[in-house]
Amino acid sequence: MLDLIIIGSGPAGLSAAIYGIRANLNLLVIEKDYEGTGQVALSSCVDNYLGLPGLDGYSMGEQFRQHAVDFGVEFLEAAVTGIEPVCHTENIATTSDNLVPDFFQVTTSDGHTLETKTIIYAAGATHRKLDVPGEARFDTKGVSYCATCDGAFYRNKTTAVIGGGDTALDDALYLSGICEKVYLVHRRDTFRAAEITIKKVMEKDNIELVLNSTLSEIVGEEKVSGIRINQKNADGSEEKNLAVSGVFIAAGSKPETGILEKISGLNLNDAGYVIADESCITSLPGFFVAGDVRTKTLRQVITAVADGAIAATAASHYIG
Ligand code: NAP
Repeated sequence: MLDLIIIGSGPAGLSAAIYGIRANLNLLVIEKDYEGTGQVALSSCVDNYLGLPGLDGYSMGEQFRQHAVDFGVEFLEAAVTGIEPVCHTENIATTSDNLVPDFFQVTTSDGHTLETKTIIYAAGATHRKLDVPGEARFDTKGVSYCATCDGAFYRNKTTAVIGGGDTALDDALYLSGICEKVYLVHRRDTFRAAEITIKKVMEKDNIELVLNSTLSEIVGEEKVSGIRINQKNADGSEEKNLAVSGVFIAAGSKPETGILEKISGLNLNDAGYVIADESCITSLPGFFVAGDVRTKTLRQVITAVADGAIAATAASHYIG
């Protein structure tokens, strides 16, 4: 029986692993299709992590991971296919009607069934799709969700970035250094990105803002050749065509919580995030949550790392 299984090896999961190991917990990190350390691996530059300015997200993640490896953390590369709290009736909590699990059974895609006293769920979130015509058809043929991964394919070409958050503006900045021109298409006329990032975007001559506009279609033959947008104006709205070779969709993310939906006693919010405050304690005893998959207002590397530390400490106290 393990003390702790950490599901996810992004910054939250790795931070939890380091704190867990230092608390002497017998733990395992389960990660799906390792391709870098979570979402941060896709960021071209993370300038707001204390003490490590200017690192690209992939290198930063590798540094985090090496730290965990050096501390003796063990990893299992597999998808978690099921989590089952196992309860004995004598463990009915005195303060609520909820059962308190004695342990959890975790099954994985490679056939493991593991038992653990606690879980830290740190599986993060994935790219939100816009579900417009052409998006699925041109996926990897001009449609991308990662500018740092695919930007180099569009050297001296024209591209469009869709979204108005930090990722979209970071992507537009990154692409402006590679592409001849970048359209930044956003559905409103104000951005939710950091002010400093907005300022940098405004200073770029080859980024053109296309505001109050939604993407209605991605068009092309074998590859993307353009996008159709619907732009709101004083008279209503009009359809416009923009000739682009690539479309980078940066419309936020959705939590990786599909496997949690049927776990009795574990509360998710309407958007699917695991409900917990800064304590990282969920409605299900022994089940903790850390990082972007938790209900929170600021989803950043630094807050994910803090969550990992808090969740592992909470798990250690829970085990006693
Ligand atoms: P986000 O902040 O949720 O922004 C998503 C953007 O996509 C928003 O502008 C949203 O428009 C737009 N959007 C969502 N659904 C859409 C739809 N169906 N059609 C058109 N547009 C749509 O996501 P994010 O930019 O990926 O950032 C996630 C978190 O990571 C944030 O906390 C962010 O600060 C952080 N982050 C930080 C850095 C950094 O510090 N360097 C880099 C990347 C991300 P509305 O604005 O109208 O809602």
